[in-house]
Amino acid sequence: MRRDAQVSDAFAARVLRWFDRHGRHDLPWQQDPDPYRVWVSEIMLQQTQVATVIPYFERFMQRFPDVRTLAVAPSDDVLHHWSGLGYYARARNLHATAQTVVADFDGRMPDDLDTLQSLPGIGRSTAGAILSLACGQRQVILDGNVKRVLARCFAVDGWPGTGAVQRELWRLTERLTPRDRVADYNQAMMDLGATLCTRSSPDCAVCPLHADCAARSTGRQADYPGRKPKRPLPQRAVTMLLVRNADGELLLERRPPSGIWGGLWSLPETRPGNDPAGWCRTHLAAPAQVVRRLAPRRHTFSHFHLHIEPVELLLNGPGCGVLEGDARLWYNPARPQDLGFAAPVARLIAEVVESNP
Ligand code: SF4
Repeated sequence: MRRDAQVSDAFAARVLRWFDRHGRHDLPWQQDPDPYRVWVSEIMLQQTQVATVIPYFERFMQRFPDVRTLAVAPSDDVLHHWSGLGYYARARNLHATAQTVVADFDGRMPDDLDTLQSLPGIGRSTAGAILSLACGQRQVILDGNVKRVLARCFAVDGWPGTGAVQRELWRLTERLTPRDRVADYNQAMMDLGATLCTRSSPDCAVCPLHADCAARSTGRQADYPGRKPKRPLPQRAVTMLLVRNADGELLLERRPPSGIWGGLWSLPETRPGNDPAGWCRTHLAAPAQVVRRLAPRRHTFSHFHLHIEPVELLLNGPGCGVLEGDARLWYNPARPQDLGFAAPVARLIAEVVESNP
């Protein structure tokens, strides 16, 4: 027991010494780290690298400087500020949680772990990060970077998605997290994973954990953490329609609130092999001509590949106004509104706009 405590103290001391000299101290969410700013940054940093997140975080904070502003914002506006970051459920959950915080907690983020974790999109590690980084509580974290460092240092076999490996990693992070300087320690572990103990080329020579790292001593850094068992991703295909009208406007459809690109604006779709002009006759009561077929492309989600065949059409006639509630609209690229688009859809729209100046 005593020996365990000594090992943990030495581990934390090395990590903190390294952090004081080499850690990141100037990230935008480290300035004035209130729970709201830390929460938004932690959600953005899930699945996304720091360099990508910084400009999104700054734009987001300019538009939604506090939880009350976020709570009352239209969802289109929130998704617009998330456009291109991917994993849009994060933005929808952020918005829903802001509304709950205002309605049920008088606009203050809860400061206990269980309540925080009960809110949409906030898991145990994110809750631990908010409470340690913004509130100074001794709470532990286990994000992807921390998992990698611990799995390598302690040679934890297996894929962290399995229950047994998760439990072992949580046990380690609990054991190693110090009582003092918890915010610095947690930030240091995230920094270590992001900057030194990277997935493909860990820089062990300058790592503060070099002397005790099990993976380094056996040269098996690449084996940890264990990989998710590989299964070939299913393939899906869709034809996306870029329908222009005589005014140069493009037809958009809003995706259903949940699922892929949920709540974002996208393009009408039909099955590959279906007649694209037939879609316009059926849905817009107007004839249309196919202008061109754009280069097909593939977009990979975490659980399938989507093959996109884009077709540009010109509507011959006014069409039947628009349209079924607020699920469709004519979009004028010359006067763009603040709408949320997934990156592949934004690129397609830009291609068609560029070729029709
Ligand atoms: S010694 Fe290498 S593998 Fe081990 S924690 Fe440091 S960077 Fe990662």
